[in-house]
Amino acid sequence: MLNLVLFGPPGSGKGTQAAKLVKRYNLVHISTGDLFRREKKLNSPIWQEVQSYIDKGALAPDSITFRLLKAEMDKTPDAVGYILDGFPRNVNQASSLDRFLKEEGTEVSLLVELIVPDQEIISRITGRGKIEGRKDDQDPAIVQNRIDVYKSQTAPVADHYDLASKTKRIDGLGSIEEIFQRICTVLDTVAV
Ligand code: ADP
Repeated sequence: MLNLVLFGPPGSGKGTQAAKLVKRYNLVHISTGDLFRREKKLNSPIWQEVQSYIDKGALAPDSITFRLLKAEMDKTPDAVGYILDGFPRNVNQASSLDRFLKEEGTEVSLLVELIVPDQEIISRITGRGKIEGRKDDQDPAIVQNRIDVYKSQTAPVADHYDLASKTKRIDGLGSIEEIFQRICTVLDTVAV
């Protein structure tokens, strides 16, 4: 299996690149942000539990997030691999994922981190907020909080996988196609 963790700050282009990678490598894309937005549309009990965290730019509780992720993975037992986007978002989630994949006889193959400077992130997110109407994208204080959470809680996940030499950092600035080619070059070194 090819299990890719697509990593990077909010607004770094993970969703855009994931959509292109899915086609090229035949992987299943799971975005925990999208899973939460699906719960929001349903106004489900899960959404009611996580809403206050997400709306202020904090992380949702690990247990709920992991449950959602596993349920989504269970829907595709024949997948040749996954692109995980927005997960793991802290070291505890990474440990849960490692344990779970090990039980399934597999592991994280690679973590690809898109490196994008703060200023660029803020301008991309603000633009997206206007188009998509995402509450967490519109308020500069909430956007800043998500960047802070990324730096303090999420960035250590890249170091966690770096210990196993699985982390690859790539430049997230350039055209969508240029960045896609950079990711493919890295993936082709592990893909069979
Ligand atoms: P971004 O565009 O900031 O990368 P996402 O669309 O991935 O955001 O996620 C939106 C929000 O959903 C996050 O700010 C966070 O509150 C919540 N969320 C998403 N994934 C996770 C996760 N793995 N653990 C906890 N909370 C999460």
